[in-house]
Amino acid sequence: MGDDPPPGGGGIPPDLEMTPQTFLQSQGELSGSQRSMKRHAESEIGNPTPKKNISPSASVQDVYTVPEFAGEKLKYTDADQGPFSVHVTRMESDPSAGLTIRVLKFAQLIHRNNIPGIVNGGVNSVGRNRVSVEFASSSAANNFVTNPLLAENKLCATIPQFQVSRMGVVRNIPIDWTLEELVSGLQYPSNCGQVIKARRLNSKKIIDGSATWIPSNTVVLTFLGQSLPQKVYCYHTSLPVDVYHLPTIQCRGCCRFGHIKAQCRSKARCFKCSQPHLGESCNIPDEHVTCLLCSGNHKATDPRCPEHSRQKAIKMVMSEENISYLEASARFSTVRRPFAEVASQQPPKLSQPAFFPPSPSSPSSSQNPT
Ligand SMILES: [Zn+2]
Ligand SMILES: [Zn+2]
Ligand SMILES: [Zn+2]
Repeated sequence: MGDDPPPGGGGIPPDLEMTPQTFLQSQGELSGSQRSMKRHAESEIGNPTPKKNISPSASVQDVYTVPEFAGEKLKYTDADQGPFSVHVTRMESDPSAGLTIRVLKFAQLIHRNNIPGIVNGGVNSVGRNRVSVEFASSSAANNFVTNPLLAENKLCATIPQFQVSRMGVVRNIPIDWTLEELVSGLQYPSNCGQVIKARRLNSKKIIDGSATWIPSNTVVLTFLGQSLPQKVYCYHTSLPVDVYHLPTIQCRGCCRFGHIKAQCRSKARCFKCSQPHLGESCNIPDEHVTCLLCSGNHKATDPRCPEHSRQKAIKMVMSEENISYLEASARFSTVRRPFAEVASQQPPKLSQPAFFPPSPSSPSSSQNPT
């Protein structure tokens, strides 16, 4: 189960947590400026106002990357535990080109070039333009990332962020502090890696009926390594650190999750009537609105849609257990719309529950193993 495409291509948002574009964007954050960069916003954690039809591009956030890590690819350290996977994507010269990477051809390429240390069964497709390669050791994985073979074949390898870093949230950070001031004042408990990046979240304020985003006192810190400390010290003050929960992002162009409309490369799918056009320009009457994710009588952007609950649950597991989208999403049964139902336009019902509670017993589920 889970492998066959849903009827009408609707039910399973196939996107990874990072599309190639967002991936490049995040790489850009590392390689770009040393000081302060802007990034698409999400609302502050615990913001009581529900996000409703607000474009993420409505606001940008302050991002600071510690200079020695700017432009550097993260690598595994001796303290890191496996699996030692590396993700490979095809580099794009034309962002609108729909690039794919074929797993068998890629596996043959690296086999012919005698890349050492690959685990049997460790080369797998994890997205349209993404292959995961698992190595037996951290050094084999690190060496592969810088292998010139990749660039020669227009490929790019990176170690997935969730394997080598942890994100945590700190609160009550003075608004008038720069992120550099915050990071340079930090001291860490033992067994905890240093902060390599800080990002200040924005919160939404309604002023005269329209939403405005303003910097909040909540900051997301990215720690090097696989353990998230419970607290750090800032100028000798104890600062509690909470797990950062990844937000769900939905595209208003194709209704899939994991990217925004500005990054979309898929054909438009209407969030009101499921047809291949943009939802903004659709004027179907409310009583005929059909969700293309679950066939319910609501827009596909409605947070009450069971697929939204599923996506939230997936992000929660990813955040808590530091696993990939693919691994996390496999734990939640897909929201499907039965063919007969679609054909006859009957009132919707789910063929399966929206999601099951996450299994607590997965071997990879222990967070912060050290
Ligand atoms: Zn899209
Ligand atoms: Zn429509
Ligand atoms: Zn729905």
